[in-house]
Amino acid sequence: METKSAFRVYVTQTQEIFELLHSGTNTVLRWVFHYGESLSFFVEDWEKEDEQIIKQIMEYINQGTEYMMMTIQRVENPFLCLLCMNLTSQLQSEYSWQSEITDFCAQLQKAREDARILLTECLCEKTQSLYARYRALWKDKPPCLEHVCIMPIPADPLNDSGDQPATLLVANPEFICCDRKMPFCEICYPENVLTLYDYLKSVYLRRAVQFKRCRLCGKLFAAVDGTRTKYCSRKYSGNKVCRDIGASRVYQKKILSDPITRAYNRAYKTHNARIRYGTMTKEEFRTWVAEAKHLRDACLSGNITLDGFMDWLKQ
Ligand SMILES: [Zn+2]
Repeated sequence: METKSAFRVYVTQTQEIFELLHSGTNTVLRWVFHYGESLSFFVEDWEKEDEQIIKQIMEYINQGTEYMMMTIQRVENPFLCLLCMNLTSQLQSEYSWQSEITDFCAQLQKAREDARILLTECLCEKTQSLYARYRALWKDKPPCLEHVCIMPIPADPLNDSGDQPATLLVANPEFICCDRKMPFCEICYPENVLTLYDYLKSVYLRRAVQFKRCRLCGKLFAAVDGTRTKYCSRKYSGNKVCRDIGASRVYQKKILSDPITRAYNRAYKTHNARIRYGTMTKEEFRTWVAEAKHLRDACLSGNITLDGFMDWLKQ
């Protein structure tokens, strides 16, 4: 018996999981993201790759579906699964794949435009009332949840169709999924980009996920670890992510670019050394710091000049 390819998406309390069962090769591809990541990557990171992959898929159309699967296995954006799935299910029959691709690209663009507004203007830090903001942006138009059912969180990949278990290929192997605190969730079996996007949008809206711009790379990310987080978890250099290096890097940059703070820090070190050499007491040092800080702040707010502050520090 031939099984049909299937694609499903669900969001637990901490993760977003996308799974594609390809019936031809009996494999399941799984993409796992941190909560809030898939739409921020969709808006900020994947656009260029999408174009290249769609071009590649077009080249593979006449060479068979296995090539298409090999391509999709390496992509970061699971939205592209929908194109592959729809194309492979129809390649046997006579139809215009060109119009399928055109339609897919149009939907992808529409979803991306909407997602950009959702993340930057609706689910952002300055939004006081999410409901009012939503109405201002989309009037009363609700996201339409099609092809969604409430089911237990899947323990196994999509292999309930035959006696031969499917091979699982994980696109993002550093994650292990399953969230036992949340036994049931909505599972969406989208047929097109807009169904998938509307499902994700509704999840983010209901949970009021807040998106921010990373202070280091400038890209959007979901502030799910509390509102004080200022950096995203994208790779910045080598294996280090923005969150690892953000705080110290931004602090360094600020100090280097700011002659007032730089002068203050240099003088602080010199004066602190004087305690060690015995030319200044701790008490005198504390008095000096208090006055120096006061003058530094006055200088930062423009009440005294940099030259005036430097002259005082040199005394
Ligand atoms: Zn970042």
